[in-house]
Formats: sequence, structure tokens, C-alpha cells
Amino acid sequence: MSTTPQRVAVVTGAARGIGAATAERLAADGHAVAVLDLDTASGAETVRRIAENGGRALAVGADVSDERQVESAVARIAEELGPPAVLVNNAGVLRDNLLFRMTVADWDTVSNVHLRGAFLMTRAVQKHMVDAGHGRVVTLSSSSALGNRGQANYAAAKAGLQGFTKTLAIELGRFGITANAVAPGFIATEMTAATAARMGITFEEFQERCAADIPVRRVGTPDDVAEAVSFLAGERSGFVSGQVLYVAGGPLC
Ligand code: NAP
Repeated sequence: MSTTPQRVAVVTGAARGIGAATAERLAADGHAVAVLDLDTASGAETVRRIAENGGRALAVGADVSDERQVESAVARIAEELGPPAVLVNNAGVLRDNLLFRMTVADWDTVSNVHLRGAFLMTRAVQKHMVDAGHGRVVTLSSSSALGNRGQANYAAAKAGLQGFTKTLAIELGRFGITANAVAPGFIATEMTAATAARMGITFEEFQERCAADIPVRRVGTPDDVAEAVSFLAGERSGFVSGQVLYVAGGPLC
């Protein structure tokens, strides 16, 4: 029987999509999971599914871009579940527009949730990881980091998160903490469904069009991403740090 103590994982934006699948996967891997999203009620369904499968989870409400909310959420998680050993920076939003139509509010919202959010969450959990001499930080970047029409704000944030990740790896490695980014291509979630709606096509049509350009000829699922996060959050990935793992059904150029 394993004597490894149950570690605590925090997944942001875990009410649905990639975050929910990741929270469930990390619970199945044996972690106690804090399901963090904008409000406690929205995480309840993810928590229910984890509990139904025999796991332990806590719904926590916080806006990752708000310093006070982040600090109190992490304090509550440490008190109720235990010190966080895994952080998955997943919470995200889109505010797509061509540059000449992009408002300052569109720019700031995307930058605040992705960049400020990952910074605040990581800063809040790292002290627990340093004390324990162990930690795993996995941050959701995107294939859009390589540039994508209509996403100047999002591409800049997702590319920024890659630099953030590499810096964390350099600073925190000596404390037994690894930091990596997972960069998905097209994943079928409410986020991509909303993009289809904005384009005025059905989600099915959008997925078919995108799949035709993906070498494996299908779009990704939240579980495809959760699988990659599970590896990077696990005990056995301790010599993998500062990397960006594209989960996109093929190479990107
Ligand atoms: P999603 O379905 O839109 O889910 C995002 C979750 O984040 C929602 O539950 C949302 O809550 C929450 N959230 C938004 N702002 C937040 C904030 N300030 N604080 C806390 N939670 C917040 O998105 P997804 O498709 O699963 O994407 C998850 C991550 O993967 C994002 O970082 C995204 O950029 C990245 N990604 C996705 C794809 C893709 O194809 N889907 C590709 C590459 C990268 P509300 O519902 O209340 O807004």
C-alpha cells in the first residue's frame, strides 16, 4: 500500500471545461482538489462529480485577478484541505476583436485574468510549496501564443504565461518545485462554442472545419488536456520543468 500522503491540488476556473476535467482527473490521481471558480456555487457540480467517484473536493469562490480574494481563498484551502502542493492556472476568458476594434477594457480583462491571475495565484501558493520542499505549477497557455487573428490580447497573455512559467522554473526549482505550461490547440468547450456563435456558424460546423486542419483529424477534448496536466502535476515529472507542452493534435509552426 502506498504511504504517500494525499496532496492538495488547486485548479482555477474548474467549474467547467478543461478546468473541470482537470480537477476530476487530479482527484482520480489521488489529490484532494480545490475547485476554484468565480463563485462557490458554480463549482458545486464539479465537486459533486468528484465526491461521487470517491474523491475529496472543496468549492472555492474567487476572482483570480483580485489580490484579496486570492489570498483569502488560498488561506481557506490551506486550512480546510491542507497546504497546496499543485496549482493549475486554468481560469480564462476571451475578448476577441481585431486590433483596431479592440477596446482597452478588452485588453485589460484578458490580461488581468490570465497574467495577473496566474501571478497572484502562484505567489499565494508558492510559500506552502517552498515550506514543503515540493510543488507543481501547471499553467494553461495556448497555441494562440504563436499568434492568432483577432486575439492580440489573448495571444500576448498566453505568450506571456510561457515566459512566466520559465521564470518560475528557474526561481523555484531549488525548492523542489517544477513549473510547466500546457498549450492546447482547439478543445471543444463553452469557450470555443462561444467563438463559433460569434462567427455565426454552428459549433458542429466549426469543429469540423478546425478538425480538417489538425493532423489527427479531430478536435481535442478537455480530457486530452487533463491527461497532460496529470503527468506534469504528478510525482514522476520532477525533472521536467520550464517546458511548454502543446496538446494540439499535431505540431504547430
Ligand atoms: P471555459 O469553458 O470558458 O472555462 C473557463 C472557466 O474559468 C469558467 O468556469 C470561468 O467562469 C472561469 N473564470 C473566468 N474568469 C475567471 C476569474 N477571473 N476567476 C476565476 N475563474 C474564472 O474555458 P476552457 O475552454 O475550459 O479553457 C480553460 C483554459 O484553457 C483557459 O485558460 C483557456 O484560455 C485555455 N485554452 C482553451 C482552449 C480551448 O480550445 N478551449 C485552447 C487553448 C487554451 P465563468 O463561467 O463564471 O466565466
